[in-house]
Amino acid sequence: MKKNSIDGIVFDLDGTVYLGEKALPGATDGIAALRRHGIRVLFVSNKPLQPRQVYAAKLSRLGIPATADDVITSGFVLGQHLARTAPDLRLYVIGEPPLKGELRSHGLTVVEESDQDPKEVIDPSGIDAVVVAFDRTLDYRKLNTAYQALRQGARFFATNADKTCPMPGGAIPDAGATIAALEHITGRRLELLAGKPSPLTMQVALAGLGTAPEHSLMVGDRLETDIRMGRDAGMITALPLTGVTQGADLAHSDIQPDFVVAHIGELVHMILTPGT
Ligand SMILES: [Mg+2]
Repeated sequence: MKKNSIDGIVFDLDGTVYLGEKALPGATDGIAALRRHGIRVLFVSNKPLQPRQVYAAKLSRLGIPATADDVITSGFVLGQHLARTAPDLRLYVIGEPPLKGELRSHGLTVVEESDQDPKEVIDPSGIDAVVVAFDRTLDYRKLNTAYQALRQGARFFATNADKTCPMPGGAIPDAGATIAALEHITGRRLELLAGKPSPLTMQVALAGLGTAPEHSLMVGDRLETDIRMGRDAGMITALPLTGVTQGADLAHSDIQPDFVVAHIGELVHMILTPGT
């Protein structure tokens, strides 16, 4: 890979840049070296659980200085997209407070039940769109409100569609479980997905980098999301073997990255060392 062919890089976070509270090999020094060479970098997470500043603070803590503007979450992508295309929708959000804050920060309207009165019911005619996200406080009232609104024709969006979220020692149900429940009981299909592998995420990322797709690299550890999405956007793709994908998975997949590396350190070496 020639460094003059890469102007910008989009990095997945979990399994690519860090795992838990540890930076993966080469991430800290490598990303610093890329920036010194004038290559723009951006970080993408599918999780709508935290504001972008929180991911930026974690990166900074791990030795990769970052601000909120360096990070894209599925909540940010949805907020930006809706602010541009449908700013007046009244949104009912199955999600946690930081996501509601993110959507409001884009000037969007979020309708909510009262925390004080657990019996309060929102009139479904006051809801124009249901937004489903990872929500660890999901309950019957939220499911019912979303169901009634969807039955009356509300639009059906999601930040992310991951079935489960990996946790130390296993996984917990994610937004995909709630989307499936609502699709099952309404007979409707999700209309709009903001997070990976939606092309919207790459559009927002490339706009943030300000680079052409053919001179941009998508780096991530999941074939089905990161690599597929980068490839579909016309970007160069690289898969580090530090996350969920192992060599055997790669051999059996019809999604093949342009480059497979042991870790980000190896990738940065390839990009910055002429002749490799
Ligand atoms: Mg990952």
